[in-house]
Amino acid sequence: MALLDGKTGLIFGVANKRSIAWAIAQSLAREGMRLAFTYQGERLKESVEALSSTLPGSILLPCDVTSDAEIDAVYEKIDAEFGRLDALLHSVAYAPKEDLEREFVLTSREGFKLAHDISAYSLVALTRGALPLFGKSDGGSVLALTYYGAQKAVEGYNVMGVAKASLEASVRYLAANLGPRKIRVNAISAGPVNTLAARGIKGFTTMMHHHEERAPMHRNVELEELGNAGLFLLSSMSSAMTGEIMFVDCGYNIVGL
Ligand code: NAD
Repeated sequence: MALLDGKTGLIFGVANKRSIAWAIAQSLAREGMRLAFTYQGERLKESVEALSSTLPGSILLPCDVTSDAEIDAVYEKIDAEFGRLDALLHSVAYAPKEDLEREFVLTSREGFKLAHDISAYSLVALTRGALPLFGKSDGGSVLALTYYGAQKAVEGYNVMGVAKASLEASVRYLAANLGPRKIRVNAISAGPVNTLAARGIKGFTTMMHHHEERAPMHRNVELEELGNAGLFLLSSMSSAMTGEIMFVDCGYNIVGL
């Protein structure tokens, strides 16, 4: 019997085959978890459908995380199809390009709000929506994706770093709040990976080279390694861990000088 036979999971954040969410979904599916995928808008439907259809029994639903109505519709459908939920993956982030590119001090009010709404508040909203379904399982596990720029100032990361700091604090507050209900909430702080979202960051290629040079392992993290770390945190293998920010970055974050 596979580790996750009979378990169900909901995945937010697949855009294409390079998405970290897709790497984690593949690890979960390999261990027998049945998955539901959401896609953000019609533009991405086809590419997410092409991927999700390769996993038997999976379902596909639209969801823009800025819409409470769309979030509610997702959970109604999951209740009807799965009747329970064991795992929730939040692998979603956005900040307007202009706000990422200009000096941090010039960040707009709208850009700041939008980055926080999509990249941090959505974790709270999605977790709240999942509560009744986690209640029908034996609790649940929630996982978010973050980056080192939440904890240190990283050139070019700007407002996204501030939103990730809010996301990381939200992980801890949700974990403290929901621990008594057997719901665990953790995050992976991933080293840089060349994805659609990453390309919005000015100087991203330089960032990857820098990580490769400075990280103790002298390389960047592979998608499959993030997939396996996600499997660990979303399964009972990490059953005593909650509120943690776990670095999966080839050791980059431990280096001082
Ligand atoms: P990606 O572009 O493949 O995934 C980002 C996802 O966010 C996309 O699927 C996009 O549709 C979704 N999204 C954006 N706005 C949304 C909205 N309003 N509603 C619903 N979905 C929305 O890129 P990725 O690198 O796989 O990013 C996944 C997560 O990993 C993000 O939280 C990102 O910040 C984080 N992360 C990425 C890196 C990296 O180097 N790529 C490093 C650390 C953390």
